[in-house]
Amino acid sequence: MNQTVIITGASRGIGREIAIRFAEKNNNVVLNYLNSHCEINEVALELEQENLSFCLYRADVSNRFEVDKMVDYCIKKYGQVDVLVNNAGISEYELFTNISEDQWDKMMSVNLKGAFNCTQSVLKYMLPNKKGRIINISSIWGITGAACEVHYSVSKAGLIGMTKALAKELGPSNITVNCIAPGIIETDMIESLTKKEKESLRDQTVLGRFGTCGDIANCVMFLASDDSAYLTGQIISPNGGYLI
Ligand code: NAP
Repeated sequence: MNQTVIITGASRGIGREIAIRFAEKNNNVVLNYLNSHCEINEVALELEQENLSFCLYRADVSNRFEVDKMVDYCIKKYGQVDVLVNNAGISEYELFTNISEDQWDKMMSVNLKGAFNCTQSVLKYMLPNKKGRIINISSIWGITGAACEVHYSVSKAGLIGMTKALAKELGPSNITVNCIAPGIIETDMIESLTKKEKESLRDQTVLGRFGTCGDIANCVMFLASDDSAYLTGQIISPNGGYLI
């Protein structure tokens, strides 16, 4: 492929797998992270051993100044940005009536404004090139809604709205915007679920298993490839048949 790709939240879970895939396909990869210093250094070591092209960049996606500096760094280093994967995200279980204003704002700042910040920042470079791919990682809960995760569900539904609206605005500039809405994926994010909750969710999944980070990375690689050139404004939901 040989493109330049920025992946937010690449220190762990889904973002980590996506970053490794892009690097292994000989792309220049910017791995964004925030707090997981040890984890990101482990990924770096792995990529270094394979002599792949990458750099690490610590930035809080909810902070526009830091995001702009990250994108500028990417341009200085690689001269372009072709693909942005808005993957960084947080989740939280809380009864709607207990969600504080701060909790609400934090959820929106990271999950939704983070994607706004990163997307607006890379567009400065994609628009003049008339070329680019934006891939947003939403969630199945952004489609169906989840009890005790209203703020998370809203932020993820917002990403779906953003995908559709922005695809219309950017189509004439040859920039596609698509969205992946994963079902339940084995990462740290689902660690707070009890054994019983996990069993129940697995039982409701037609394929009888949770997804892997690889299942999501496969979809991202497709959306970044020439095979999906005619696809924009779409929501792909790899969820093992949880939602049909
Ligand atoms: P995860 O294992 O908890 O990893 C989250 C990643 O996001 C970490 O790399 C973290 O970086 C980064 N991050 C969080 N806040 C950030 C911020 N303010 N700025 C920059 N990076 C930040 O989660 P995951 O399961 O891989 O989830 C990845 C995405 O998929 C999320 O958007 C999530 O909502 C979505 N998703 C997950 C599931 C699932 O079941 N796991 C299902 C549907 C959708 P640090 O650790 O370095 O701080």
